[in-house]
Order: sequence, then structure tokens, then C-alpha cells
Amino acid sequence: MPEQNDIYYELWNPKPLKICQSSHLFSIEPIGVGTPYTESLSSYLTRLAQEHCVTPKKLIMGEIAPLIIGDRYQSEMLSKNVSTLFGNSDAKPAINGMRDMTRSLILALENLTLRQDLQFLSCLTWKRVISDRGLFRQERAWCPQCFEQWRVEKKTIYEPLLWSFRDVGFCLAHNCQLSNRCPHCSSSLKAIANSLHLGFCSRCKSWLGSDRDDNQALLIDDFEDHRQIITGIGDLIAITPGLIFPPTLTDLIRKLQLIHFCFERGVNQDLTKFIALGKIMEQLKITLTKHYDKPLNLIKLLIPVCHQAKISLTQFLSEDFQALSAILFRNLEINYRFESFRISP
Ligand SMILES: [Zn+2]
Ligand SMILES: [Zn+2]
Repeated sequence: MPEQNDIYYELWNPKPLKICQSSHLFSIEPIGVGTPYTESLSSYLTRLAQEHCVTPKKLIMGEIAPLIIGDRYQSEMLSKNVSTLFGNSDAKPAINGMRDMTRSLILALENLTLRQDLQFLSCLTWKRVISDRGLFRQERAWCPQCFEQWRVEKKTIYEPLLWSFRDVGFCLAHNCQLSNRCPHCSSSLKAIANSLHLGFCSRCKSWLGSDRDDNQALLIDDFEDHRQIITGIGDLIAITPGLIFPPTLTDLIRKLQLIHFCFERGVNQDLTKFIALGKIMEQLKITLTKHYDKPLNLIKLLIPVCHQAKISLTQFLSEDFQALSAILFRNLEINYRFESFRISP
């Protein structure tokens, strides 16, 4: 039997211990970053509160609000509702979008968790490039079947950023309509609430998942119409973390000039193409001449333009000008030599 002191000796390591910097809050990993089903910022914040066994209100008031508003911290104002802090009212765009408050919340959360990937849980990357007017919902929307499937499969319940977009009315995985009212108490629900458990109603606390789809029969046609938009938004969410330098507005305007040129050329080669392209060409022309210095409309301009140009939004955003030219000339069967094509920057 060794002496007690021998055991201590064996455990003694003269090298200094390497101490990792530890985060103030758990550094939980966001779900699905780099995919169309990336978790939303409001979902991450709520899940972080759940992991610490506190309500979102307690986490926000105790740890986040002091970092965001510093000296202006007014406990009386904040004690009413967390939505007061995030301005999640009808008059302001949602917290998962591109607001200054979104940036403040991300910086505070990155500071507390020591993570550097939380901006991808919002659309902040696209501020000043894509217009946020009417782009986001003010309230929560969810797929009851996704919630139910994740519960049965014992997966983490969360809310994808995709569901924050007003034009995402369907779940492509389940071919069903998203819900935006609690089926038990009919309330519409804020993205961030004082007390919220993901997958549950913040008012009546009921489970929001369901394996029933009451609306499907009525909505198949609508679903097909919206598939292209939902796929485009999913592309935008998925590609953002992989972009070393996200495109600027100037980059995208140049690419739109290129596409407009290709459309014109295509119509000149075959006049019947004007039936499909006339409307979008007109819209493009207005953007390029009158609104070239304003953030671009994702739903009404970028996604339909890409669809008509037979490219994905991912290609539009990530391919460089020369590669995109080659793809467009091939897709649209344009007879033109790239070397002779020049667009002034
Ligand atoms: Zn679903
Ligand atoms: Zn409810």
C-alpha cells in the first residue's frame, strides 16, 4: 500500500495548468448554422435561458440588458416586459432581422458566451444590401409538425430563422402551413417573451406541436407558388456564414446589370422570350436607374430575377462576376463573347 503522501506526489504536475478562458454564460452551439434551417437569434436566446434554468426575462434583465443599455439601464421600464427592450412592436422590424438592437443583442451574447457565430442567427450581414421593409414577421410562426417530429425523435426543439420571414408561410419538409396563433388560446406570440419555453405557447403554456395537418388540402397550389421564394430565403440563410466577404450593394448592382444585359440580349435573339421576361426586365431597369443606391428587395426582385436567369440565389451571391457571366451566357443561350463584354463599375 502506498503512503498517502506518495499518492499526492503522483498527482502533482509541476507544469503550470493551461486554463481556458471560460465564458460567463454556457457557450451552447447554435443549431443548423450553414443550412437553411439555421436557428434564429430569438430561439438561441430562449434556449440559452432554458439551459441556465431561468426565464428569458431573468436572463435578459440580469445579464444582457446591462451590457446593451449600460448607464441608461432603467429597471422600472425593463421590469414591465422584455419586448420593451427589444422594441418588438408592430412599428419596428423583428429582432431576428437587421436592426441596430439586433447588433447590440448579438454583441452582448457573443461577449457572454465567447462565441463568434451568432450574427448568422439573424440577417444582420445583409443590412444596407437587402431591404428589411416588410421582410420579417413581428410575431412567432411555427410548423406544428416540425415541433412534433423533433419531440418524438428527442431532438432539440428550436425555431429556425426561416420562420421569421413574412413570406415563409409553409414548411417545405411537411408541405403544411406555418401556424401563427396558439391552437389552444388563439394568442399570437412574441418572438421574445418574459417566460417562454421553445415549442410551447408563452401565454397558456400549451404544447404547439401536432402531427395533424388540417390545412394541407386547401393549400397545395399556394405551396407550389411559394416554394421558389422559401428556397431562395433558405439559400440566403445557408450561404451567409461561408462568405468570406459578403457582397456589397455595388457588387450586386453590377451583377444585376449583367443579368439585365443578358435578358435584353436574350429577347433580341428570340422575341418570344419577352412574354416571360418583360415584367422583370422593367423592374430591373427601375432598380438600376432610380434605386441603385438603395437596399434591394429580396422577395420581389432578387429571387424572381434569379429564377428567370435560371440561377440559384446562392450562385448570384457567391459566384464572382466572370464566373456568373459564363453561367448566365450558357443558361440563357446568349451568343456573346465574354471578352468583349464590359460593364462600367
Ligand atoms: Zn415542418
Ligand atoms: Zn396558448
